[in-house]
Amino acid sequence: MPELFIDGAWTAARDGGVREIRCPADGTLVATVDEAGARDVEAAVLAARNAFDRGPWPRTPAAERAALLSRVAGLIEREKDALARSESLDTGKRLVESEYDIADVVRCFRHFAALTAAEDGGRVVDTGDPEIDSRVVREPAGVCALITPWNYPLLQTAWKVAPALGAGTTFVLKPSELTPHTAILLMRLLAEAGLPAGVANLVLGAGVSVGAPLTEDPRVDLVSFTGGLATGRRVMAAAAPTVKKVALELGGKNPNIVFADADVETAVDYALTAVFLHSGQVCSAGARLLVQDELHDRFVDAVVAGARAIRLGGPFDPAARTGPLISAAHRDKVEAYVAAGIAEGAVLRCGGARPDDPALADGFYYPPTVLDECTPDMSVVEEESFGPVLTVERFRDEDEAVTLANDTVYGLAGAVWSGDVGRARRVASRLRAGTVWINDFHPYVPQAEWGGMKQSGIGRELGPAGLAEYQETKHLWHNLAPRPQGWFA
Ligand code: NAP
Repeated sequence: MPELFIDGAWTAARDGGVREIRCPADGTLVATVDEAGARDVEAAVLAARNAFDRGPWPRTPAAERAALLSRVAGLIEREKDALARSESLDTGKRLVESEYDIADVVRCFRHFAALTAAEDGGRVVDTGDPEIDSRVVREPAGVCALITPWNYPLLQTAWKVAPALGAGTTFVLKPSELTPHTAILLMRLLAEAGLPAGVANLVLGAGVSVGAPLTEDPRVDLVSFTGGLATGRRVMAAAAPTVKKVALELGGKNPNIVFADADVETAVDYALTAVFLHSGQVCSAGARLLVQDELHDRFVDAVVAGARAIRLGGPFDPAARTGPLISAAHRDKVEAYVAAGIAEGAVLRCGGARPDDPALADGFYYPPTVLDECTPDMSVVEEESFGPVLTVERFRDEDEAVTLANDTVYGLAGAVWSGDVGRARRVASRLRAGTVWINDFHPYVPQAEWGGMKQSGIGRELGPAGLAEYQETKHLWHNLAPRPQGWFA
């Protein structure tokens, strides 16, 4: 079966393009998929535009759209094993992590189903004139380009697809070229749930040839993009000539601040998960550990011991605790950041070299790495390596912790660990980040907004704002008793 989904039909690439998808854990061929070209992108945009301008979906009552989202949630639940397996084969992540992700995808669809069902007829504005009916309504934002990364392929897709459908928009989805399979499966489920043709379209392929044309196309009204900062800047620039709405979920360089009065054992445990989960390929990874001076030695020793004990392995190895990096190129990039950090004066405490275990030789593995005695000007501290690399900086007091934590162009997430509630809340309120955890790291719920301050992004996903991203606001003014004004009489 071909893998591009355009105007309600599965189609092969018009120019015959194909791409091999290989599992990053061992290089085995997962499948060969169709790779879209310019003519496929054109057809997909046209289909989405027609479905928006002439199709039923944008005018379908919110209750029916909500019912479809609930049906999709049920279908994803039915297919959860196949989806999790597919996600693990494409990304190399542990099966259990993919299973968590798919459960989150179901929750995401249910959240937006509930929000969509609660949509009302708008806000009535009291003009003081009984002959005027004035109300502010929300309408679907138009044709959307949804562009997603490879680290949480279906989850990041769900954060966009569910609200886009709830709002009544139509879209063209372009997943990462490396991890297309769960997007293909999702399209099958949307069709099975009864979504009209042309509302959801899927094109597969590279960012430059498939993503970029979507961001430039004048028939696209909104681009919702999740990915790296450099690509985000390109997307924003490409969208500027046609003044598209742009929603950007970009990277992070997230501080994990530990005060000496924290529960040390728990904070060490979380510091490991914060940065090494999914081998650091998490936008909100706690990649910068800031430790109060007096706790530094003891804390870092414990983190290093924990990092050394993390076992690497493939998605179906029950003993593995984290998996490979996504590609050879990505591992090269992570290695280069570590080398640069050491050259700039960081002290390598563990990791820092590819594993020599022959069982891992065919995958893109890189071990949990801790760099101590780091300073804010090092590239490994400033820039997102997006790998299993923890940098450690010291601080003396609250002010210095906040200054270091905010000394970044990013503002996605951060955490504060302290036994002093007042201090923890004070520091949390001073962090310029879209999500701040106190005595915790990583949890999120679909009911709460997710997104970044500063160069971590524009707009929010999830929460009520995640639906509003896909809506336009219209003021409807109805004069119930029109008569000549006589202004120019
Ligand atoms: P990326 O390289 O920026 O790619 C993201 C998506 O954009 C991919 O589908 C990519 O296509 C596409 N793309 C590349 N160039 C493009 C262009 N010129 N125009 C339009 N689309 C283009 O990011 P990634 O490496 O896949 O993902 C990792 C990044 O995502 C990290 O920086 C991470 O922090 C960020 N992220 C952020 C969040 C968040 O919630 N803030 C969540 C997850 C990930 P290809 O298929 O060719 O790569």
